Amino acid sequence: MSTMSHHDVAIVGAGIVGLAHAWEAHRRGLRVVVVDAAAGPHGASVRNFGHACITPQTGAAAVFANEARGRWLELAVRAGFTARETGTLVVARRPEELAVVEEFAAATRGPVELLTATAATTRIPVAPDEVVGGAFLPADLQVDPRTATPAIAAFLAAEGVDFRWRTSATGVTSGTLATTRGDIAAATVVVATNHDLDRLFPEIAERARLVRCRLHMLRAAPTLRAPLVAPLFTGWSLLRYSGFATQPSADALRDRLRAELPEGMEFDLNQMVTQHVDGSLILGDTHERGIDATPFESEAGFDLVIRETKRLFGVEDVPVVERWQGVYASSPDREFVIEQPEPGVHVVTVASGIGMTTGLGIAPFTFDGTAADIAAGTLPSSPVTTTLQETR
Ligand SMILES: Cc1cc2nc3c(=O)[nH]c(=O)nc-3n(C[C@H](O)[C@H](O)[C@H](O)COP(=O)(O)OP(=O)(O)OC[C@H]3O[C@@H](n4cnc5c(N)ncnc54)[C@H](O)[C@@H]3O)c2cc1C
Repeated sequence: MSTMSHHDVAIVGAGIVGLAHAWEAHRRGLRVVVVDAAAGPHGASVRNFGHACITPQTGAAAVFANEARGRWLELAVRAGFTARETGTLVVARRPEELAVVEEFAAATRGPVELLTATAATTRIPVAPDEVVGGAFLPADLQVDPRTATPAIAAFLAAEGVDFRWRTSATGVTSGTLATTRGDIAAATVVVATNHDLDRLFPEIAERARLVRCRLHMLRAAPTLRAPLVAPLFTGWSLLRYSGFATQPSADALRDRLRAELPEGMEFDLNQMVTQHVDGSLILGDTHERGIDATPFESEAGFDLVIRETKRLFGVEDVPVVERWQGVYASSPDREFVIEQPEPGVHVVTVASGIGMTTGLGIAPFTFDGTAADIAAGTLPSSPVTTTLQETR
């Protein structure tokens, strides 16, 4: 007797990308099963800053991020986790940083509020002596990364989505997902395994030059002079997100930061901070890439983040509560690896460390059949795209 179970949609991976697709399929009235090798969400989706940095995205990322925004806010209410309309704060401590921020504000169509040095030091509890200005990006969100993905999984399970934890996918072909607990028949299979895409589809991963990017991350409880009310970007962040990094002054900023802190460049530092409801700060991060994620985290990376955090906030002590390694898929060529290797099989990988910003917004396009085109740079004016005004 066959033990094969039957669903309309089978999803591999219960991170934010997999759950985004599970929710979308469920909303469309489809029977959904999610398999994950782990006993619960434990991947990049719980190891991050919880920052939906929508405003500085461009191209496909902007399409997905704008779509994701309203979905975060809706899911937070329905699934019962914290998603706040905090916006993003940017502190400029060097003239080159201010120049990038001003150029971005002039070039972008999204909402950006420039801050004077006085306004920035009033709103951001950083050491005031170095501040030359800043910006506020009001459309961005902050979610609690520890609880969001588990809450979404619990919500979907209560809605009738079938979850199979501790179940690994071993092979995918049109119509069938093979797992360590038997085969699942499904007309549509979505593969959302993040950096482990190479274990199921090595050719796709190799073509996209996908590697594992690992990050030094810390949670700490320093005493700041005021709460940090929104995710905080520094000059290092301005070299990373495309809306900033493509501005004319970005090269001068890169040269300045390299000259001031070569170690920051070696570790590909993105100094940023989010504060969470218990008052603790999530601090990071570094970026080191390789086919495998070596488990050995250098103390030099943690030292760098701690030292720069002390300088940023002008504090003597950064009491560390936790340290961890984040890992995500990284491609030098593209932000997303979205392909259909066989009819009905969709590979959806965020390959640039912006899955919390974009993941929820990809799913409707996957089921409409346009996600791969958007990721490839063909931007349709799809009816499912919401505007910031509509979702605020
Ligand atoms: C330290 C860090 C900070 C970050 N900060 C941010 C941020 O602030 N904002 C932002 O937008 N993005 C951020 N990101 C990126 C973001 O977290 C990721 O892009 C996103 O979480 C990827 O989601 P995912 O669902 O693809 O992967 P994951 O959350 O890693 O989930 C993949 C799941 O697939 C499962 N799996 C893998 N292989 C199999 C298999 N064969 N069978 C069954 N299950 C399998 C795994 O067990 C895992 O649960 C950060 C990432 C890291 C690591």
